[in-house]
Amino acid sequence: MLSEKIRRDYYEVLGVSRDADLKTIKKAFRNLARKYHPDMKPDDPNAEEKFKEVAEAFEVLSDNDKRATYDRFGHEGLSGTPFRDFSGISFDDLFGGFGIFDDLFSAFGGGSRARTSRPRARRGQDVRLNLEISFDEAMKGLKKKIKVPNWAQCPTCHGMKVKEGKSLKNCDTCQGTGEIRRIQRSAFGQIVNISTCPTCHGEGKSLPKGAECNTCNGIGKVKQFRNVNAEIPAGVDSGMRVVIQGEGRPGELGGPSGDLYLVVSVEEHPFFHRNGSDILIEYPISFIDAILGTKVEVPTIDGKETIKIDPGTEHGKIITLRNKGAPYPNSSQKGDMHIGIIVKFPKKLNKTSKKVLYELEKLIDKDYVFEDNDELLKTLSSLK
Ligand SMILES: [Zn+2]
Ligand SMILES: [Zn+2]
Repeated sequence: MLSEKIRRDYYEVLGVSRDADLKTIKKAFRNLARKYHPDMKPDDPNAEEKFKEVAEAFEVLSDNDKRATYDRFGHEGLSGTPFRDFSGISFDDLFGGFGIFDDLFSAFGGGSRARTSRPRARRGQDVRLNLEISFDEAMKGLKKKIKVPNWAQCPTCHGMKVKEGKSLKNCDTCQGTGEIRRIQRSAFGQIVNISTCPTCHGEGKSLPKGAECNTCNGIGKVKQFRNVNAEIPAGVDSGMRVVIQGEGRPGELGGPSGDLYLVVSVEEHPFFHRNGSDILIEYPISFIDAILGTKVEVPTIDGKETIKIDPGTEHGKIITLRNKGAPYPNSSQKGDMHIGIIVKFPKKLNKTSKKVLYELEKLIDKDYVFEDNDELLKTLSSLK
C-alpha cells in the first residue's frame, strides 16, 4: 500500500505546477496513465504501484475540495479518504474503444461520489426548537424569522481541527489505529477482542495541546445560524408543535432534508385563561348589580362585548359567548368564551348605608334564601 511508503507530492507525481488548471491535470493524468498502466507494462513489477500513485494524485487534484485540503494539510489532511481502486480496470476499459475515462473523470470531478462502496442517500435529522410567544401572538398568529442553529465545517481549518502549521498526532492510546486489540487466552486458544479506541473514538488521531484551530477551538465545526421564515397559525397553545418541512438538517448524498419542529409555549395571560380553544375569564360585579341586573362590558380576545347581567345573578354564574374563544389552529372555527361572574361585597359600610340595608331587609321576604333548599330547612327544623 502506498500509505506505508514515503508518499510523493501529488503535483510532483503528475508533473504539474501547483497552480495547474483542471485541463492540465486531466491531460497529465491521461499521459501518465498511458505510460504506467499495468496492461501497458506487463513486465514491470512496479507498474501497478506507479499507476496507483498517479491515479490517487489525479483523484485528489481533480477534486476542488480534496485539492484545497491537500494544499493546506498535505497527505495528513486526506487520511481516511477512500481512494478508488483501479487495479481491476484494464487499460482498454479506461482509454479504449468504450472509453470509460470520461465517466470516471466525472465521478472524480464530482467530489465524494467515487467511493468504492455504494453510497446511500440519508435523510437529514429533524431539528427541535422551543418557541416562546405571547398570548396575543398565539391568538392572532404570527410570522417570525427563526434562527436555526447548524454546524458547518470550520472555514479556517476545513474541519482539520488544527491551526495552520500544526497537525494532529497519532492517538497515544491506540497508536493511531483507532482500535484496541486485546488477546484473551482460553482453553480453545487465543481470542482477539477488537474494540473502538475510547480516547479517540476510532479516529486514531489526537489534538496536541495548543494546536487547536482558533476559530473552532479544535472542534472542526462552527455553529452557524440560518434564518427560516416560520408561520405560526392563530390559536396555537403550549405544547403544540409547528412543523416546517425541509428546514431541518440537510440530507446526505442527495437525501432529503429533515424537518424543523417548533415546540410552542405560550405566556400566561393576566386574566384570560385557556381550556383548549375555550377562553375563561372571571368577571367581578357589585352585589347591587347582581341584585338589580345591569349591562357590563367585558374584554374578549377580539375586543369589547356588552353582556346582560340578569336581576338576581348569583356568584359563580357562567355566561357563555359562543364562538368568541380562541381560533382552532388552521381552521375558521373558534371556541367559546365563558365568563364566570364574581359577586363582590363592600368590606366596610358607613352608618347611612347600614341603615338603608336594615330598612331594605325589613322590606324583602326572606323566602328567597332557602327557595331551592327547602329540604335543608326541613332537616334543620327537625333536628334538636
Ligand atoms: Zn485512539
Ligand atoms: Zn477550525
